[in-house]
Amino acid sequence: MTFFTAVTTPAPLLEAPAALWAALLQHLRTQGGGVRESGAFLLGRKDTGRRVMTAVLPYERLQADALHDDYVSLNAESFAKLWAHCREQNLSVVADIHTHRFGAGQSRSDRANPMVAQPGHIAFIAPHFAQGQVGLPDLGMYVYLGNHRWTTHAGPAVSRLFRLSGGTS
Ligand SMILES: [Zn+2]
Repeated sequence: MTFFTAVTTPAPLLEAPAALWAALLQHLRTQGGGVRESGAFLLGRKDTGRRVMTAVLPYERLQADALHDDYVSLNAESFAKLWAHCREQNLSVVADIHTHRFGAGQSRSDRANPMVAQPGHIAFIAPHFAQGQVGLPDLGMYVYLGNHRWTTHAGPAVSRLFRLSGGTS
């Protein structure tokens, strides 16, 4: 019976403390300054069917020149640093996020180059360099399927699949 319950009321794919999420968006907004993209890894715990974000690792902390006007990129050395950090802190990458100048759609490069090429990996895109108020329905949420294919979620679906907890304090 649990199976049927799970199908009719799907659990969120990702959960995050509202305050940490708000701080992340503020960071992206400030880093991008309204003129360039910015991004970060969402780190946390990954159990079967449940991911909880507990920490943030901005791209520029891994690589000083990661942020550009119209793309973000990390080199192999930065990924080595990322995995070392995760091992030390006993954390997993639960998602990534980066901003776009205009809308929240994936670029060809975003589709072709997942930050973490594991099926189930979640990538968010925040529109307008995360300037102003960015609500969950404003985000693009993309779940990697493998082979450069993704499932796209937008609008109210994002609020269903990504749950914020604990208010905004
Ligand atoms: Zn992009």
